[in-house]
Amino acid sequence: METTRCLIIGSGPAGYTSAIYAGRADISPILYEGMEPGGQLTTTTVVENFPGFAEGVDANILMDTMGKQAKRFGADIRRGKIASIDLSSRPFHAVDDRGNEILAQSVIIATGATAKYLGLPSEQKFRGLGVSACATCDGFFYRKKDVAVVGGGDTACEEATYLAGLCRKVYIIVRRDVFRASKAMQERVNNTPNIEVLWNCNTQEVLGDENGVTGARLLRKDGKVFDIKIDGFFLAIGHHPNSDLFKEWIDTDENGYIITDGKTSKTNVEGVFAAGDVQDPHYRQAITAAASGCRAALDVEKFLIANNL
Ligand code: NDP
Repeated sequence: METTRCLIIGSGPAGYTSAIYAGRADISPILYEGMEPGGQLTTTTVVENFPGFAEGVDANILMDTMGKQAKRFGADIRRGKIASIDLSSRPFHAVDDRGNEILAQSVIIATGATAKYLGLPSEQKFRGLGVSACATCDGFFYRKKDVAVVGGGDTACEEATYLAGLCRKVYIIVRRDVFRASKAMQERVNNTPNIEVLWNCNTQEVLGDENGVTGARLLRKDGKVFDIKIDGFFLAIGHHPNSDLFKEWIDTDENGYIITDGKTSKTNVEGVFAAGDVQDPHYRQAITAAASGCRAALDVEKFLIANNL
């Protein structure tokens, strides 16, 4: 059976950065890319807020380059996913989706989180063409334009107030007649003049043409169907951290985010570390994920040395 000193699961900025650091530390990690090589970032187009790229960078090129950088330092990067893993004892036993078995002295979980979408075909059609699940990433492209945010939680309110600073008008589409968000967030929304809340509304369809989103068709609870004109449609109805595979052993919070120990990447299982969005419900940025991937690799290095592995 194959053995490795470090198995990295996930290929977003967290996974690749941990592979770069682990590779440079001569750990020769094996990294499984998962079903979405490059991670969530590849669902956007241009990344303008990753330091080092004055003119911005295509998200796919950025992730591809991170992968190449990791390979240069000896990371063994593989297509496919880890189908099952037993974290009850060390070395940890993992099986990939082709049935290959691996014994790993340490594991970095960097499986990310998946933004929730409404499930409309039109929403998928315009993904990256006006439909986005990250206002911080994409809001800048909608300066002085009209946009809508779907959701009534803290994320929706936070993203709407952020967008209100850039856009001409921001609609918040809320399916009930109340916000789920905290009072403080609600107040921020109420005090922002260019935000309009559309209560009791569900999106029936995202409207658009060959250039992208042009509007949304909404159904209000009283049966009224109406269209709004917008250039951007932002989802803020929650994220699902991809931690299900590990839940039997790894402690998570009530929303499924992996709990790490203080400022480290250590989980409750010795030798298992977590990095990126799977353990971060708050920041969710490529740069913060990359930074936590760095931390995880440094923690792994220390762990391997301390245990003579
Ligand atoms: P939440 O689960 O808190 O809210 C999701 C919102 O989306 C709810 O209003 C929900 O409506 C709505 N929603 C869900 N599914 C649909 C759907 N199919 N159609 C329309 N609307 C839908 O997620 P958040 O991402 O907002 O927050 C996650 C956690 O992170 C929370 O604990 C939050 O407090 C925290 N957070 C804190 C922040 C801060 O403190 N600065 C900032 C951001 C998040 P309904 O209410 O009807 O269920």
